[in-house]
Amino acid sequence: MKSDQNSEREGRSSESRDSLKSLNEEIRSCTRCHLADDRTKAVPGEGPGRADILLVGEAPGRDEDLAGRPFVGRAGSILDRCLNDAGIDRSEVFIANVVKCRPPGNRRPKKDEVEACRPYLKSQIELIQPKVVCLMGNAATKAILDVEGVTSLRGQVFKDLFLVTFHPAAVLRNGNLKEDLVSDLLAAREKAEGSRALHQK
Ligand code: SF4
Repeated sequence: MKSDQNSEREGRSSESRDSLKSLNEEIRSCTRCHLADDRTKAVPGEGPGRADILLVGEAPGRDEDLAGRPFVGRAGSILDRCLNDAGIDRSEVFIANVVKCRPPGNRRPKKDEVEACRPYLKSQIELIQPKVVCLMGNAATKAILDVEGVTSLRGQVFKDLFLVTFHPAAVLRNGNLKEDLVSDLLAAREKAEGSRALHQK
């Protein structure tokens, strides 16, 4: 019975991987908003086809734009350290952003850009089926929940899925926030493990 469940899960995971691959190709050639004009590479996101934890940041920065991969710059190093401290392996989580192309000068994405790109994040959530989505920072929180104020909202879970926390770039600016980010990631891990145990019963 367990092996039937495992092969079913593996089958679903491979379907999701294929669909994510098509979605990534669509994102890489997308011209739905003006951010396509200045990008070097779009950054769809990366991680397993099925991941229990989905991390969502604001937008790619300069290093990410050059590499076509999320969180590879200084904020990425901080994120890696925080994941490590929370006992999470980066290869097991899916990492994405609200907008997939770098806003010039790393400015905050505009409302119309977020609107244009939102369907991609929605599709990623549907395909990946995470147990918890960490909204890192105000831009991700506003885009998904339409609320702002990450300092007061952090650590809270909305709709039994979305956990609000700080963006790693905020930790770069203020090292005192690292403890909070690690504690939120730990809460995300515990929530994901709890949901997984429940589904396996
Ligand atoms: S930011 Fe999103 S909507 Fe705009 S061009 Fe890039 S992928 Fe397309």
